Amino acid sequence: MKHDAAKRIFVGFVLGVIAGLLFKALNWQSAVEVSGLVGDLFLRALRMLVIPLIFSSLAIGIAQIGDITRLSRLGGLTVVYYLFTNAIAVTIGLVLVNLIQPGAGTLLAEERLPELPPLQLKTLLLNIVPANPIEALAKGEMLALIFLSLLTGAALLTSRDSGEPIKQILNSLLQLTMIVIHWLLAVAPFGVFGLAVRLTAEFGLSVFLPLAKYAFTVILGLAIHGLIVLPLLILLLARISPFAYLRNFLTALLTAFSTSSSSATLPVTIECAERAGIRDEVRRFVLPLGATINMDGTALYEAVAACFVAQAYGISLTFTEQILVFITANLAAIGAAGIPAGGLVTMPFVFQSVGLPVKGMALILPIDRFLDMFRTTVNVLGDIVGCAVVQKVMKFDESLQSQTESQTQMAS
Ligand code: ASP
Repeated sequence: MKHDAAKRIFVGFVLGVIAGLLFKALNWQSAVEVSGLVGDLFLRALRMLVIPLIFSSLAIGIAQIGDITRLSRLGGLTVVYYLFTNAIAVTIGLVLVNLIQPGAGTLLAEERLPELPPLQLKTLLLNIVPANPIEALAKGEMLALIFLSLLTGAALLTSRDSGEPIKQILNSLLQLTMIVIHWLLAVAPFGVFGLAVRLTAEFGLSVFLPLAKYAFTVILGLAIHGLIVLPLLILLLARISPFAYLRNFLTALLTAFSTSSSSATLPVTIECAERAGIRDEVRRFVLPLGATINMDGTALYEAVAACFVAQAYGISLTFTEQILVFITANLAAIGAAGIPAGGLVTMPFVFQSVGLPVKGMALILPIDRFLDMFRTTVNVLGDIVGCAVVQKVMKFDESLQSQTESQTQMAS
């Protein structure tokens, strides 16, 4: 369903590059400025959605856990597993982007967001708990937003009927935000066109050469995580054959690839999990929560994107700043909605945390939707592997083992 959107965005980009070169050759500065304005409007609209999207999707995700005491063990285990695999994914991304240096030599401009003061760990920690939530949100303090969302989710989870109205409001806020994102994706080709015009007119074609290297870095990282790390976890933690288990989920993985949406894929994943012998209590909990907060592919992608843009700007991120990218990429992935380009919406959070110009996102926008297909597949794969691991550790694994064995026998 979303292939069309990807195609149109790509066409917008190519036309933007051509127009940018043309405007530059003809010296049509005002055309470049108008196009840049359209691109900026698009970027601002994306940023506008960050707060409602993260707040509603995260709070609802936590609230969906159900009963806090009954599910505390399952919840704890699942969240630990999710954080662990997210952290591995981001580490792979950071190692690769430092080794390959896809953005090196691009040199856009040496600038940082002027309004950001130098980062201090103490301030960062203090800002997580906002004394004035409204002020914190108005200032765009994302860690405070994540904290508030988690807290609201936990409160909704423990409240019984009293939380119901807020749950409904948040649910509807999430739906509305998704509708707006849908609209935004419809006009994205124009936004991308405008950004591409300005980039090409200002910097010439050479600015796009590193994009291929960037895509390679992202896809290589996703392949290492999806084809090596996650199957190894099935083998070591769930103690079953990754191949026999994963073949049950081919439909879900293909759906993820073609829709670029973990949420849209969720019904298919839940259905495949039943066939794979995952018990109801595990799949009904692990998968919806995973579709909301577990995004290994997105986490890896956001970290690589931020470092790539930093390299392109000639900004070398210190070790501490890279740790910050590590933390914020994890949080941004948790906060991203499982929809096409959901990760793109939370990306300014990672950029701002290390003072990178958010308009640098223009560099990665043209191929974002292409890479989305790959990262969404890895996101869903992470949830699928989570089911097997949680089922084994919770000692629910007898049915999984016998199912998988009987399927292997049937196949041979
Ligand atoms: N499209 C991704 C997903 O649904 C989120 C993202 O944009 O990274 O899982």
